[in-house]
Amino acid sequence: MPVKTRTASSPKGAKPGLLTRLEAIVGKDGVLTGEAALPFATDVYRTLETPLAVVRPADVDQLQAVVREAAAAGVAIVPRGGGASYTDGYLAVRTDTVLIDTGGLNRIVEINETDAYVTVEAGVTWAELKAALDPLNLRTPFFGPFSGFAATVGGSMSQHAISHGSGQFGGSAESAVSVDVVIADGTLLRTGSAARGGSPFARWYGPDLCGLFLGDCGALGIKARITLPLIARKPAFQCASFAFADLPSLARAMRAAALENLDDEHFAIDAPLAQGQIARQDKAAVVQMALSVLKSSPSLVAGLKQLSKMALAGDRALRKAEYMVHYILEGVDDREAKARLDRLRTLMTAEGVEIPNTMPTIVRGMPFAPLYNVLGPKGERWAPMNGILPHSQVATFHAALEALYASHAEEMTARGVWRGGMFEVLRPSGFLYEVALYWPGEQTAYHAGVLPAEHLASLPQYAEDPETTAFVHRLKAQIIALYAKHDAVHFQLGKLYPYADVLEAPTLDLVKAVKAAVDPKGLMNPGALGI
Ligand SMILES: Cc1cc2nc3c(=O)[nH]c(=O)nc-3n(C[C@H](O)[C@H](O)[C@H](O)COP(=O)(O)OP(=O)(O)OC[C@H]3O[C@@H](n4cnc5c(N)ncnc54)[C@H](O)[C@@H]3O)c2cc1C
Repeated sequence: MPVKTRTASSPKGAKPGLLTRLEAIVGKDGVLTGEAALPFATDVYRTLETPLAVVRPADVDQLQAVVREAAAAGVAIVPRGGGASYTDGYLAVRTDTVLIDTGGLNRIVEINETDAYVTVEAGVTWAELKAALDPLNLRTPFFGPFSGFAATVGGSMSQHAISHGSGQFGGSAESAVSVDVVIADGTLLRTGSAARGGSPFARWYGPDLCGLFLGDCGALGIKARITLPLIARKPAFQCASFAFADLPSLARAMRAAALENLDDEHFAIDAPLAQGQIARQDKAAVVQMALSVLKSSPSLVAGLKQLSKMALAGDRALRKAEYMVHYILEGVDDREAKARLDRLRTLMTAEGVEIPNTMPTIVRGMPFAPLYNVLGPKGERWAPMNGILPHSQVATFHAALEALYASHAEEMTARGVWRGGMFEVLRPSGFLYEVALYWPGEQTAYHAGVLPAEHLASLPQYAEDPETTAFVHRLKAQIIALYAKHDAVHFQLGKLYPYADVLEAPTLDLVKAVKAAVDPKGLMNPGALGI
């Protein structure tokens, strides 16, 4: 798809009376058009078409009514959660699109401690969910991506997410019990035990209809409510970090640790990310993090000790390492957490060395960071990509990717394009290899929507260079092709990664039949999943 940016509303595709009817449902303030719609219609990477309107229902009834009206008018219907994705997932590919912002569906519907589940509306963010569960000493197994201040439970369930809790409990989909979905005619469809009209406590009730809607990128309907399991928070934890000289040795160690199911979560980064993007914090964020470390420590003395260790260690060791992996391990008591750490140390130090645990300690204290990372450390544009590789392919993919970068080295340097890598093991069987590209480019409506104006103004500003933007776009396509060559699958398919065009015919037929059953006119997020 060519890179395309529009800056004004388009009257193209307007349907007589539709906006008035939508306003009658959600109120005048709940319908945004033109410039006001643009921040919602721009993802972290780019903008495609400007939709007819962004509509913001305040509850599930309004959501159903909006979908009914839009469907009756024959316009495309595209759901948006926190908007923290970068794969065109909620971007409009037609001007006659109603973009539905689920931000108003922000109620925690039920916390059922006895039956151990929590039901939320789709627009609840992971940070809001955690804040509601913390006082009860409860959590969900997967408890959000790093973007959880903005990312919603509905968004993450719709495109798959990993990070917090993924070491023990896998990705977002593994922490879903039931979903209530508004399909293209406005009907509310329930799954699992809730499909009988009863409580949503159980997912496994006949075929997995809940799973059908997980990772659909909104192509099959709009999640209105999601039920997740509750577990007790463990009182003890340990943090540890290790450095490696090269990616294959890092990947081997991470795989070994995953096989033994030791950690609650982990993440690994390469040197460019450690020195730039991830390690960067402004002063306010550092103070906030220090407070969080104190709060999450077992005692004030332990917290102060940890802080002084963090200050003493600085990031000297981090700066020397090529690859670093950071672990958070939990236990029912200190003894269990330490036993897990001892075993992890044995596995990691077979090929790596231990380094200060500054970064996981910060993440433990503050799992959801402000979205400063949507721009590079010098205000550069940022485009991440992910591929989940079988472990057997990691080393060869890495070598091929390095060769690709080498073949473009001159142009990357000339254009100021640089790259980093981030890695996680997804259960023992998959290795998530995330690529981040950075380049000098103009800030967009997305950045203006999510970052404070004074922060944006404090960063270097770049003029848009269409040739550099096109170069990055081509490089992304080449990296995606490389993932495909190495048997990768992708989270967050959106409208970017291959799906429909690579499925075997019988599977694609089934996916299309499901789509036709819930969305016969093809109105629901056209282009998502390639269907
Ligand atoms: C700084 C930063 C850090 C990140 N860290 C992580 C990370 O640690 N792990 C990770 O996996 N990802 C991460 N991401 C990517 C992204 O934030 C997550 O994937 C997140 O889950 C997206 O949620 P969202 O609510 O913002 O979804 P959106 O971006 O709003 O939407 C994503 C997709 O879901 C669809 N959708 C949204 N809501 C609904 C709904 N209610 N019903 C049906 N479809 C819907 C949209 O149409 C779109 O296709 C990060 C992003 C940023 C910017």
